[in-house]
Amino acid sequence: MKKENRNNINRRSFLKVLGSGVFVSTAVFYGCKPERKSADHYNIGEVPLDKMTYRTNPSTGDKVSLLGYGCMRWPLMPAPDGNGEIIDQEAVNTLVDYAIEHGVNYFDTAPVYCQGMSEKATGIALKRHPREKFFLATKLSNFSNYTRENSLAMYYQSFKELQVDYLDYYLLHSVGGGSGIQLVNDRYIDNGMLDFLVKEREAGRIRNLGWSFHGDVDVFDYMLSLDVKWDFVQIQMNYADWRHAQGRNVNAEYLYKELEKRNISVVIMEPLLGGRLSRLNDHLVALLKQRRPDKSVASWAFRFAGSFPLVLTALSGMTYMEHLQDNIITYSPLEPCSEEEFELLEETAQMMLKYPTIPCNDCKYCMPCPYGLDIPAILLHYNRCVNEGNIPKSSQDENYRQARRAFLIGYDRSVPKLRQASHCVGCDQCTSHCPQSIQIAKEMARIDKFVEDLKQGREF
Ligand code: SF4
Ligand code: SF4
Repeated sequence: MKKENRNNINRRSFLKVLGSGVFVSTAVFYGCKPERKSADHYNIGEVPLDKMTYRTNPSTGDKVSLLGYGCMRWPLMPAPDGNGEIIDQEAVNTLVDYAIEHGVNYFDTAPVYCQGMSEKATGIALKRHPREKFFLATKLSNFSNYTRENSLAMYYQSFKELQVDYLDYYLLHSVGGGSGIQLVNDRYIDNGMLDFLVKEREAGRIRNLGWSFHGDVDVFDYMLSLDVKWDFVQIQMNYADWRHAQGRNVNAEYLYKELEKRNISVVIMEPLLGGRLSRLNDHLVALLKQRRPDKSVASWAFRFAGSFPLVLTALSGMTYMEHLQDNIITYSPLEPCSEEEFELLEETAQMMLKYPTIPCNDCKYCMPCPYGLDIPAILLHYNRCVNEGNIPKSSQDENYRQARRAFLIGYDRSVPKLRQASHCVGCDQCTSHCPQSIQIAKEMARIDKFVEDLKQGREF
């Protein structure tokens, strides 16, 4: 048996045998980089079958589970031809079955997720369940080619990939990037796609029409000013972005309150800020653990998102079974945050600002880099070292030698040498794709210089 096959079987077996009552350390399994260290140990305990919190969509009366499945991080396995990776369909089926069995009924995908493989895999897994058991969301991801012809082709292809004849939730994907309002007009208005989608809703092929937002206030207000009934809007909302959104992102407090004024349902993306709210600095983990020792750090972020009544569902891209289980528990049922807990999370967000990580959420929209860099892996390694105190500010720092070693050894383990920041040529083809407005080329240059200084043992 080939080694790669053996690994796959081990992982599948692991997914199947993981039952309730498991003591988990996210040190081992969170995200795609299993070597991460963390102080987050928690006892999963029993996973309730029938205690999920549901919210009602005022547009259609849908009873939607507060936990939504984000289908952008399905488990991968090596392709049989040795060329890259494919989605591990058996693992996806197992996760989807478990989610539905435990009350999750909202699945959110897009033509661009998992390098174009998510819709198909999601469709295969869901096809095995009665259609009325789930709500399916997908998107018009016409990022670079927004001709009417291409946009229509993308729309119809989604039905084929997902094997359905209606979509419960359809979104204009990532509204607000690039040139702002002009790009909104180019992608949806001038090519007639928005009018077309409104008619599709009238015809019943789309049950709810909305948009996901990654832009500035002007674009957000513009979208709400259009003469269209929006059934829902998907926004980035978590306790860090509530009042301390970074880059071009808008504070979620503003976004939520504008939607609340109009009674528009809110779908939450990034409740964990791309996993960063589950990978807090050890000091912050200790602070939260004092309050709820047996609960995961991530559960705080999900409770925050779910505590707002207009939130229909909070999406989580759950690659691993223990994350699915932990999130099901958090919302089965939801225990809303008290005023005191909201204050604690605001203090946590303020303290996070003192440990400035790069706001990468591992969405991979910047990939592939034509020069082979693994951009998110580089940024995530950097962030991990910030959180663990392994970014020495000066060669005179007390822990300089230990931090230097941890950064350099971890870097080579997390990112193959040929994919490291030193290979960036500054072509800047990636930056415009980043919804977090990270100046990727500049960050690559900065990290590369930092690495070189560490390697040379230079004073800084
Ligand atoms: S700027 Fe660097 S990271 Fe971005 S696409 Fe070019 S080579 Fe890749
Ligand atoms: S750098 Fe930006 S586009 Fe790339 S993975 Fe991170 S957040 Fe996504």
